Amino acid sequence: MAPLDDAARAAIRAAVDANFATQTAFLADFVRIPSLRFEEGPAQDFMAAALRERGYSVDDWKIDLSDLESLRGYGPIEGDFSRARTVVGSHRPEEVHGRSLILQGHLDVVPAGPVEMWETPPFDPVVKDGWMHGRGACDMKSGTVSALFALDALRAAGFEPAATVHFQSVIEEESTGLGALSTLQRGYRADLAFIPEPTGFRFLRAQVGVIWFKLKVRGKPVHVSVAGEGANAITAAFDMINAVKGLEIIWNERAKEHPNFKDVVHPLNFNPGKIAGGDWASSVPAWCDVDCRIGVLPGWDLADARREIEECVTAAARTHPFLANSPPEVVWNGFMSEGWVLEGAEEPEAEFRATWGEVFGDEPLIENANTGLTDTRFYPYYGVPAVCWGPKGLNIHGFDEKVDLASVRKATEMMALFIARWCGLNKLEG
Ligand SMILES: [Zn+2]
Repeated sequence: MAPLDDAARAAIRAAVDANFATQTAFLADFVRIPSLRFEEGPAQDFMAAALRERGYSVDDWKIDLSDLESLRGYGPIEGDFSRARTVVGSHRPEEVHGRSLILQGHLDVVPAGPVEMWETPPFDPVVKDGWMHGRGACDMKSGTVSALFALDALRAAGFEPAATVHFQSVIEEESTGLGALSTLQRGYRADLAFIPEPTGFRFLRAQVGVIWFKLKVRGKPVHVSVAGEGANAITAAFDMINAVKGLEIIWNERAKEHPNFKDVVHPLNFNPGKIAGGDWASSVPAWCDVDCRIGVLPGWDLADARREIEECVTAAARTHPFLANSPPEVVWNGFMSEGWVLEGAEEPEAEFRATWGEVFGDEPLIENANTGLTDTRFYPYYGVPAVCWGPKGLNIHGFDEKVDLASVRKATEMMALFIARWCGLNKLEG
C-alpha cells in the first residue's frame, strides 16, 4: 500500500491537469451522442469501449424487467424497453487495503425541445467562455466523465485504488431509475456509492421522491357545429390539471413541517409535462392524455400519495357534467420513488469533508435538500450508503444547457483525491 502523502496528492493533481484537454474532448464526444430515452445504446457502447480500453473488466447486460418488478423503488415502464442495457466496468486489485466504491453516472438525457431555441445545436457541443454547451453536458455526462478521468489520474500518477471500484454507466435516471436498480439486482455492492450529479458543488443531504402518472381523459366526440351535445376531453383535462394543482398546494403546506424541507420554498412541484389529445380541429376531441410529475417528501408512503392523487381526480370529475359518469383514468407510468435523506453515511461524509478541505480550503461545504431526485435513493435499500456531489452548470432540462469546465476540472481533482482516500492506493509497478 502506498501512502496518500503530499507527494502523491501533488502527482494526482498534476495528472488531472495534464489530462484535462483530453477529458474535455472525451466529454464533447460523449455529449455528441444523443442518448435520449430508449436510444441509449450508442452511448453505452461508447462507455463500454472506454472502460475496456482502460483494462476494466466490463459487464454489459440487457435489463430484464421481470427481474426488477418486485423490487423496492421499481417504477413502471411505458415504451419499448427491449434494448435497455447497463454497463459496469470493475477494477479488482490483487492487494486490497481500502474500502470498496461504486462510481455511478447516468447517460440518459431529456429531450432538447425546439432546437431553434438553442443558441447552438444541443448535440453539437461547443465551448464558449469556459463553458461547454449541449444537452447532457451538465446533467450528467460531465460528472460521469469526471469520475472516469479521476481514475485515469490515479493511474497516470502511478497508482491504482487499493480496493474494488465498480464504475457504473446507467440509463433511466430521468424516468424510473431502473438502470441504477438493475445494478443492485445484478448483485453489485460496495462500502459506498458516489454519484457525481451536477449539484453545483453542494453536498446532497436530502431529496424529494417523485411520482409519474398519466391522466387519461375521455370525452364525447361530435361535430363541432353541435359542440354542446359533446364533451371536450381537452378542456376537461385542464379542469383535472387544476384539481391536482390544488393538491400541490396542500402538499406544500405539509412540507412546512418537514425537518429537511421546511426552509425550502415550494419543494413539491407538480408538472403537467406532456399533453396529447384530439384528432381533428372540427371534431370535439374524444381524448386527451396528460403526462404528469409530482414530488413527495421523504418519509411519505407512496401508496398513500397515490390514493390522494386518485381521490383528488375522482372528486374533481364528480363535479364535471361529462366526467362524472366517465371519470379519467390515472395510470402510473414512470417514477414511483420515495424521498431520501442521507443516513448511515457518517464515515464517508467525514472522508468527503476532509477531501473538500484539501481541495477547497476554508470554503464552506454547502448542503442541499434537492427538489428533484437522483439515483442515490436505491443504494441504501441494499445496505450501501450513497453520496451525491458534482460540478456546476446551468439550464439543465432547458435550452442551452451548459457546464462550467473549471468546475469539472475541480470536481475531477476532488473525486481523484476522494477515491485515493476512500479506497487507498497501491503503487503500480514500473
Ligand atoms: Zn442527472
